[in-house]
Amino acid sequence: MRITTAEVERRAMRQAIALSAWGRGTTSPNPPVGCVVLDSDGRLVGQGWHRRKGEPHAEAHVLAQAGYAARGGTAVVTLEPCCHHGRTPPCHRALIEAGIVRVVIAVLDPTSRGRGGSALLHEAGIDVVEGLLVEEAHLVLGPWLAALERQRPVLTWGCFLTREGSLTGDATVLPGEIDTLVHDDTSTASATPAVTERLAPRSLSTLPNDPHQALAGLHHEGARVVGLAAGGVTAQSYLDAGLIDHIEAHSPHEVANLPNLPDGYRLARISRLNDGLRLSLIRNNANTTWSSLLSHR
Ligand SMILES: [Zn+2]
Repeated sequence: MRITTAEVERRAMRQAIALSAWGRGTTSPNPPVGCVVLDSDGRLVGQGWHRRKGEPHAEAHVLAQAGYAARGGTAVVTLEPCCHHGRTPPCHRALIEAGIVRVVIAVLDPTSRGRGGSALLHEAGIDVVEGLLVEEAHLVLGPWLAALERQRPVLTWGCFLTREGSLTGDATVLPGEIDTLVHDDTSTASATPAVTERLAPRSLSTLPNDPHQALAGLHHEGARVVGLAAGGVTAQSYLDAGLIDHIEAHSPHEVANLPNLPDGYRLARISRLNDGLRLSLIRNNANTTWSSLLSHR
């Protein structure tokens, strides 16, 4: 049975979404974006993702790979192509010059304000589709979008529940997509090479005491998804300020005293690990789409 263009494009978008996830943790302050280019017969002729700030955007990367095969083809991209001259030329221009005739987009860029890449592509006579698999694309772009909306990074607290129920910092439970690790002096952060290799760890003692100021400063420096590895007492000011969006707690024992987990959060997921449990909690009043998506990670 011949598959339809719509089905080919949905498959390509899922591929672009999966590719984009490889950029999580390394692209900040840029978004993690994936792109697939199909030729005029619907065959895949290029695929890739944005790796880090200063390197080519996903579209430019993939168009270079596709070369002449992109003429008359379709670009499938998880975020609206950019329209601004930054460190790299704008992607809408690169798509037009490559001879792309159709662009399929999942998420519109909230920073493009009406005259973004999508509008410019349309004006150039390109067939533009917006909103394909937008919820699935949010699985990867959600935290970046949330950070943009709130002008502060998404914050996940990684902690370890001792047998007595007290909390110590634990960087090993933090997700790989965090771009910045903040730790206290007693946490396991510095003893976790697999994690610290990818991150620029920051000691809490180098940040302002006020949690709002600390996160605003990190956001200004380009952090979008921050992991906090700190003990319960140290993390308390961030909890009190309502700034911890997500808690990952590693519980290797049957814990006698779970009440030490903070109020105001609900269990979003419980994973059975080889050496215990991982409890994933999200804030009760979290009302944006990304938080429910984070819980399904
Ligand atoms: Zn771009």
